Amino acid sequence: MAFICPHCKQVAYTRTSRYLSDLTQEEYLTCSNVTCGHNFSTFRAVRETLSPSALPRAGIYIPMATKQRLAEVQLLIRRQKAGTENQLELPGLTA
Ligand SMILES: [Zn+2]
Repeated sequence: MAFICPHCKQVAYTRTSRYLSDLTQEEYLTCSNVTCGHNFSTFRAVRETLSPSALPRAGIYIPMATKQRLAEVQLLIRRQKAGTENQLELPGLTA
């Protein structure tokens, strides 16, 4: 998993990670910018259920997203998809 370095805004890559629980993970990252050299850690957690699992496991409780939150996620996905489609439609104007 990649992350943007908070100092130089270049991509930082995961060097290693470990699960702290079924729902949380700690990652250690290194910035790809050699002149920056920032090493840092991040914390990831399962936030919410958007669609229930077909194989639910006892003891795992992840709150369901509200209808408002689901609408926000759908809008975000549509915007990202539209952005990707725009890039594909304008290949001569990228990079
Ligand atoms: Zn950096």
